[in-house]
Amino acid sequence: MSTEDDIGAWWAELEASTTDRDSAIHNAYQQLDNAGLVSKVVVHRYRCRRRGCELATVIRVGDAVIARTRDNKLSPGLNLDRTVPAARIKNTLDGRRHWPGHTFDVAKLAEWGPAAGMGMECHHVLGTVLAVDVLATVDGVRPGHPGEPTKL
Ligand SMILES: [Zn+2]
Repeated sequence: MSTEDDIGAWWAELEASTTDRDSAIHNAYQQLDNAGLVSKVVVHRYRCRRRGCELATVIRVGDAVIARTRDNKLSPGLNLDRTVPAARIKNTLDGRRHWPGHTFDVAKLAEWGPAAGMGMECHHVLGTVLAVDVLATVDGVRPGHPGEPTKL
């Protein structure tokens, strides 16, 4: 699996073999990442304006546009302000303030409407990017040729 076409075919098989598309999307990104193949299919990146932290990576596999946001360790104060204890216990990586990244099927997210977006966060930025804007940004972009990152 080394070319964009191979990856597209691999994804088509993966997608056809499951009824749980969300976890297929998540696993596909993880496997491409583990195999060092994200750079072959990347169509856009989002970075923080202040320090250049990578906030999100957008890839295209077959007909799917997948965005992966990075995990984020919130500062203790912000964490207490913005989150509730039950969610911290259930959803963080450390039980406290290390929140995992998310994998989004961007076209599916956009179906929720023009206001549907995804959070992109680091220590410096708490941003939201609309799914429709991501789709417009990557429209016509060749996988592996992401151009300049968007800075938030
Ligand atoms: Zn940053």
